[in-house]
Amino acid sequence: MKFPLVGNERLSATVGSMLSSNRIPHALLIEGESGSGKTELALYLCRAAVCENEDRPCGICDGCRLQKSGNHPDVTYIAPENDRKTISVNQVRDIITAASIRPQKSRRRVFVIDPGDSMTPQAQNALLKILEEPPESVVFIITAISKSAMLETVVSRCAVLTVSLPGELSATEYIASSLNRDREEIAEAYKAARGSIGRAINILKKKSASASAKAAENFVELLQNGSQYDLLKVLLPLEKDRAKTLEFYNALEVTVVSKLRSLSSPTLVKRYERLYSILISHKNLLKTNANLSLLLSSLAVEATAER
Ligand SMILES: [Zn+2]
Repeated sequence: MKFPLVGNERLSATVGSMLSSNRIPHALLIEGESGSGKTELALYLCRAAVCENEDRPCGICDGCRLQKSGNHPDVTYIAPENDRKTISVNQVRDIITAASIRPQKSRRRVFVIDPGDSMTPQAQNALLKILEEPPESVVFIITAISKSAMLETVVSRCAVLTVSLPGELSATEYIASSLNRDREEIAEAYKAARGSIGRAINILKKKSASASAKAAENFVELLQNGSQYDLLKVLLPLEKDRAKTLEFYNALEVTVVSKLRSLSSPTLVKRYERLYSILISHKNLLKTNANLSLLLSSLAVEATAER
């Protein structure tokens, strides 16, 4: 599995040598501003700590898979409970009790405290005791906006890893390699996300989901009186993008199902039921390597065939 953070070359080298020598410190503090990817790094290190292979984290062994599904018996995640904003001293006391139990499956027992800077000062003081003399097999992975948000005594017991937001060029290149969008759109989202890749990707996905929902509604409206050509005009912009096409079909399914619930005219019900079965079979074809232009034009033809 690759190091998860774009940019951050020096950090990547530090983490790489930590993992290849399998010397994971007992306490790691990951600092980085919101949206920088510190939780991703915390989970990556957590997976590496319970990985059963040399090339850790391999992503495929039992340890990695259990961690990924959130079911690893030796991994505990700690966050504020029940709508509270802080991690309480009682939660930390539970950690201390659990830390004394030997790991069941892995060589290590891992506690991920995220966000660690939500621990109250009392909670941090309670944690300090175990950080001073950590049990042999225990690893604490703690995140914070900045190490200055934590008690100095806690920081001094931790190896500190600093995550920086990537520069604009590497960030936009990364986004372009994972999402098929034009550069201008990516640059705009990146600006709106104030430098965070995760937020930029969310903005782009939301934008395209709402565009798909609009196109689906448009399509369904046109089905009543529009021509085949009108329908094609809605579909044509999709023909170069498989992911957008699938998103459109999903949105169309939702729109057609809700339309079917509200219709009473038997003719229209029949028409939309036909459309529903067409789009389900198209969705199956999309999973194969079906030609997009052919698929979309046949949707326009089939949808208007029996009007
Ligand atoms: Zn593994």
